[in-house]
Amino acid sequence: MTARSGRRPGGSLVGLVAALVLAGGCVVGGVNEGEPQRPLPQSTRQPTSPQAERTRADGTTSVAEFKEDMTVAVDKAEIYWAAQFRASGRRFQPVRRVVPYQREGEVACAGQALPRNNAVYCSAGDFIAYDVNWSVAAFRQVGDAFLYYLLGHEYAHGIQVRLGIRASFTIQQELQADCMAGAYIGGSIEAGQLRLEDGDLEEFREGLLAVGDDPDQPWFAEGAHGTAEQRSDSFFRGYESGLSACNLG
Ligand SMILES: [Zn+2]
Repeated sequence: MTARSGRRPGGSLVGLVAALVLAGGCVVGGVNEGEPQRPLPQSTRQPTSPQAERTRADGTTSVAEFKEDMTVAVDKAEIYWAAQFRASGRRFQPVRRVVPYQREGEVACAGQALPRNNAVYCSAGDFIAYDVNWSVAAFRQVGDAFLYYLLGHEYAHGIQVRLGIRASFTIQQELQADCMAGAYIGGSIEAGQLRLEDGDLEEFREGLLAVGDDPDQPWFAEGAHGTAEQRSDSFFRGYESGLSACNLG
C-alpha cells in the first residue's frame, strides 16, 4: 500500500500470519477493555508462494519503512475523516498524537501504564499508542497493508469518541471500528489518496483472519472483538460500501 505519490514498486504479499495484533487491546475511556495480551505469535506457516519470500526480502519491511508507512497512514486518516466530517457539516479535530513506545510503562493512559505488545487508542489523552517493536514484527509478518488497518482501527476508536458512540457491548464497538477502518482505506483508495498494490487485499484477509477471537470466547465477553469471520465481514463491508455500512447512526 502506498501513498498515491508512490515511491515503491508494487508487490507486498507476505503470506505468513499466525495470530496477533489488534486483539491486543483498545483502550477506550481510559480503561483498558480487558483484553488478555497476546504474545506475538511464532510463524507457523511458510510463505504461500515463492513471490512471498522474495517480497519479504525486497526492503519493504525495514523499521524506517514502517515509520514512513505509519506517517502516511496517519496523514491519510486525517484527510479521510476531515472530509467525512466536512460532508456532514461538522468540525473535525484530529487525534492529538500517535505515539510509539518500547517499554512497559513508558506511556500511560489515565494513569494506567500501557503494557508491551499492544496498540491502543486512549480517549483520556486523545492519543494512539503502539508498541513499536511489536507492531514492526506484525508488519513484517503480515505485510505493509496491515499497518493501515491497525492505524485505521485505532483511529476509528477516536472517531467513535468524537461521535459519542458507546455501544453496549465491546464487540459492537470493535466490529464497528473494523468497518470504519475498511471505509477509511477503501475511501482513500477511491479518492486517489492511497494506491492498492498487488497482494494488499490478501494481506487484509490474512491479517483479519489472524486477529479473530478464539472461537471459545463468548461474544458478550468484556474485550471480545469478534471472530475472524465477523471481523473480516465488517472490514470488507466498510471497504466496499463505505461508512454508510458501519451503522454510525
Ligand atoms: Zn479496538
